[in-house]
Amino acid sequence: MSTKRDYYEILGVAKTASQDEIKKSYRKVAMKYHPDRNPDNKEAEEKFKEAAEAYEVLSDSDKRSQYDRFGHAGVGGRGGFGGSGHMNMDDIFSNFGDIFGDDIFGSFFGGGGGRGGARGAGSRGRGTRGSNLRVKIKLTYEEIAKGANKKIKVKKYVPCSTCNGLGAKDKNSFQTCSTCHGSGQVRKVTQTFLGQMQTVTTCPTCNGEGQTITNKCTSCKGEGRVYGEETVSIDIPAGVQEGMQLSMSGKGNAGERGGAPGDLIILIEEEPHPELQREGLNVAYDLHISFPDAVFGTQVEVPTVDGKAKIKIPAGTQSGKIFRLKGKGFPSVNSYEKGDQLIHVNVWTPQNVSSEEKQLIEKLQQSENFKPNPEKSSKGFFEKVRDIFS
Ligand SMILES: [Zn+2]
Ligand SMILES: [Zn+2]
Repeated sequence: MSTKRDYYEILGVAKTASQDEIKKSYRKVAMKYHPDRNPDNKEAEEKFKEAAEAYEVLSDSDKRSQYDRFGHAGVGGRGGFGGSGHMNMDDIFSNFGDIFGDDIFGSFFGGGGGRGGARGAGSRGRGTRGSNLRVKIKLTYEEIAKGANKKIKVKKYVPCSTCNGLGAKDKNSFQTCSTCHGSGQVRKVTQTFLGQMQTVTTCPTCNGEGQTITNKCTSCKGEGRVYGEETVSIDIPAGVQEGMQLSMSGKGNAGERGGAPGDLIILIEEEPHPELQREGLNVAYDLHISFPDAVFGTQVEVPTVDGKAKIKIPAGTQSGKIFRLKGKGFPSVNSYEKGDQLIHVNVWTPQNVSSEEKQLIEKLQQSENFKPNPEKSSKGFFEKVRDIFS
């Protein structure tokens, strides 16, 4: 095993630090090295695990005093968190509910990719937390531009209405757990060469709840929840994008026997628009006009994310010209910024002509006016390039 750093040093606390100081420091270190903030960063992951291990020991007064007396040898043996020297990630995350509280954690890390279900499972308090649920919502460009309210039916566990989520027939159907005498925890004492080691685990009989049910509710078989559905009203802010996730706290699966419900995670999908193409906040439209319209100028109606818009095509418009409708793009979801709509003009070149048309065009071919003027046309192109990249 490699040499381990001092646990107090890892958390940056003094040897005399209080439980509260240790908890606070751990929170800080864990946030800094959290994998969601440091994706694919091995070093951060090691630091994250190291801190969890240090906290595991220093937050437990028994383990802490063993560590103070014997150093790493005092807590690295059997009975602790194992001789491997490291906790696995799931253990670390399952402890987070206690350390961070669900709210802080959720808002900091945006849901944390489904780990939520593990946190706090079987820890103190009534029941077991319900798991998170994920739903996809497809939105049109128009809905994204304005924001939308969606009512969707979600199939999920809901609290049992017969027993009010308690899982018991009535109030007298509970009894104090005989295994743990109501504490929800069991202590195991093991003999090691260093003396007695004590470990505390969740009581397996009552799942940490401290009481058992003698007379279970028949509707939910004591689970306190049944499979059903709920219509959830979801307010989607304007400007969301494909792949974004919104989280609705407490709208996931109901917990067991009165445990807290999980969250509802909403995954945003964009419905492709038949005529418009989104590019970040901007939106592009490919416009085709006839050659005579390009010569004489015209007025056309173009689709936008907010209904139709009329635009004027000036006489003598070149193919490839881009018009910009300022502010007609998407709003930004987290600022007041708004995108533009870009309209790309294509002048249609006929691919089939009758013999009569051919004669007309051959006449035009001789005219000076029909000869390209690269100086004028390229100037337009360079302006366009500057416009696009600015
Ligand atoms: Zn128990
Ligand atoms: Zn019930």
